[in-house]
Amino acid sequence: MPEHKHDNHQQRQQKLKQQVDKRIEAAQEERGLLLVITGNGKGKTTSGFGMITRALGHGQTCGVAQFIKGTWDNGEKNLLERLGVPFHVMATGFTWETQDKQKDTEAAQQVWQQCRQLLSDDSIDVVLLDELTYMITYGYIELEEVIQALQHRPREQSVIITGRAAHRQLLELADTVSEVRNVKHGFESGLKARKGIDW
Ligand code: ATP
Ligand code: MG
Repeated sequence: MPEHKHDNHQQRQQKLKQQVDKRIEAAQEERGLLLVITGNGKGKTTSGFGMITRALGHGQTCGVAQFIKGTWDNGEKNLLERLGVPFHVMATGFTWETQDKQKDTEAAQQVWQQCRQLLSDDSIDVVLLDELTYMITYGYIELEEVIQALQHRPREQSVIITGRAAHRQLLELADTVSEVRNVKHGFESGLKARKGIDW
């Protein structure tokens, strides 16, 4: 590399470092975060569990609630229950076929009550509410109730919400929002969902 180019690069990097350092210095507030992982691509739930793994690795305490049918084989549940992590899933599962709204609401509400407990327990550092967004969209859980519970949670507690089409108010309340975009998915070319990758 010619000498002057090298100098330019170094100057640029130095300037960048100064800017980043400044921003790091400016970040002074310490409290738990609310994160929303949404979008149509694959990687929302696994991102949520990635953070749970991190927290556990630091000796923090976690709780998980999954708003999906709980009778399927579930790799994360198998592992985390062994580690003593509270893990709530819907006992009955959804009744998409029968369109029984009453039953679905009951199933969702049952898990939501357990979420409320997690969200009021200051011994829990990180809470994952997986696929919660749908429950709000379908009206099984009141948005207002969710927002209240999130706002009144312990100051140090972080919460991760995953699911497609997150409500605008959830995005506004969140500190960090990521949208996973679908570029392509093996399913579209006929690949079967795979143990260890998809569940
Ligand atoms: P993952 O649990 O793998 O992180 P996700 O939480 O982002 O995925 P969901 O919308 O919850 O995705 O769907 C869960 C299941 O559907 C997973 O088995 C996942 O591989 C699959 N899936 C996710 N995105 C797509 C997509 N764009 N097309 C087809 N299948 C998908
Ligand atoms: Mg998911």
